[in-house]
Amino acid sequence: MTQFTDLPLDPRVLQAVAEAGYTTPTPIQMQAIPPAVEGRDVLGIAQTGTGKTASFVLPMITRLQRGRARARMPRSLVLCPTRELAAQVAENFDKYAAHVKLSKALLIGGVSFKDQDALIDRGVDVLIATPGRLLDHFERGKLLLTGIEIMVVDEADRMLDMGFIPDIERIFGLLRPGSFQTLFFSATMAKEIERLTKAFLRDPVKVEVARRATAAETIEQGLVMIEGSRREAEAGEKRAVLRALIDAEGEACTNAIVFCNRKVDVDVVAKSLRKHGYDAEPIHGDLDQSQRTRTLDAFREGRLRLLVASDVAARGLDIPAVSHVFNFDVPTHSEDYVHRIGRTGRAGRSGKALTIAAPRDDKLVAAIEALIGREIPRVPVPASPASRRPAAEGERREPRQDRPRTRRDERPAARGGAAEGPGPQLLAPRPEERRQDEETPAAPSPRRAGRGDDRRRRPEEREDRVVGMGDDVPAFIRMSFEERLAG
Ligand code: AMP
Repeated sequence: MTQFTDLPLDPRVLQAVAEAGYTTPTPIQMQAIPPAVEGRDVLGIAQTGTGKTASFVLPMITRLQRGRARARMPRSLVLCPTRELAAQVAENFDKYAAHVKLSKALLIGGVSFKDQDALIDRGVDVLIATPGRLLDHFERGKLLLTGIEIMVVDEADRMLDMGFIPDIERIFGLLRPGSFQTLFFSATMAKEIERLTKAFLRDPVKVEVARRATAAETIEQGLVMIEGSRREAEAGEKRAVLRALIDAEGEACTNAIVFCNRKVDVDVVAKSLRKHGYDAEPIHGDLDQSQRTRTLDAFREGRLRLLVASDVAARGLDIPAVSHVFNFDVPTHSEDYVHRIGRTGRAGRSGKALTIAAPRDDKLVAAIEALIGREIPRVPVPASPASRRPAAEGERREPRQDRPRTRRDERPAARGGAAEGPGPQLLAPRPEERRQDEETPAAPSPRRAGRGDDRRRRPEEREDRVVGMGDDVPAFIRMSFEERLAG
């Protein structure tokens, strides 16, 4: 079996790898490192958890040993879809570059431009960035990309989900043609991704490693069907079922991730769990960076039991094994199911993944079962969903399911779905809106400059709440003029 020492890596990189406790390279590392060190383009088809980060970071460090960084002209660029993933790549870089002298800068939202500019001005070897933030810096004239020798695109499929492909194309166009190597990673090869690789990669070495679907074998899975006859009643019913499931697992549930499809639900579910006395915190792209870091640290260190997350926010997070995954919603993309449940049962530990599904999720469930190649066992809703503590006087209780709800935090997002006519369906989010979770894709430059994110948000997430109407503002009042016309 190949050892790290058999790979053509700089001895100081090998030393750092040994200190990290790794002896055997993972399959993606074994196959991608030699051509990457040689300077070839690499197309890696691999998911998080396969060791893909080291498969590009280690060759980068080895290759960047020769040469020096110049002011404002970084020598390599790693593009990541989310801040968390970018921060993790940066952490990996620090770990593996412990014995070499290379500088890096992390360009992500939520961090001041001034500090980032100062780093770039001094010259960096490695720039790790989300596409929107990188273009912001470029447009401010603070950055030149013509010195890039190595370009890495990480999690391209997630970039596609988030609408970043035009940004990626634009960034490729800012590099000096023919003078850089590309290392390109994606978990899947959608048509659009294939088009991108054909346009920008030169005779790449294609490396594909097994999907994580196999990991699902070690995980106990269950599907809980709720009645969910009316969309309005469904969210409340799901929250009650979630509590019942957590209670039924008892102490076996040491730590868990609760996945929601939409970030608006991430907040609602976390709030609801807390209200019922559970130790839960949300994580999604609208929280500021320090809050996200605090929440993640608490979860990693075992001080937080339940992390409520969206797929995008959780993507790429290096979280040690969790005992349970609860899918508050059936994921719209079946691959996300595999990602989600792969968070439990890691490294031979036993894990349990329970999914809450409504009758309308039938097609999604069938797609997931086709992907994992087996049926998810149906499990009954555990008896009497008990509240941890009664709601204090004056505190809101769960909505009664027979009452039309108008609570702001439970209303589905406005816009889209107009074909289904008036009523709750009118307010259903369009599928693509569910994915716009973390970073907002770059719009043409004049629109980006100096404008907050607010205008791109769904009405119920905007800051411009209607004063004097409490939480019970009818949806149409929150809609913009264009949205009302579109509706
Ligand atoms: P990644 O797929 O890059 O997100 O890596 C998943 C996890 O595997 C991270 O926690 C890495 O630190 C770890 N890892 C990476 N390479 C190895 C290796 N060769 N042996 C053991 N663990 C590794």
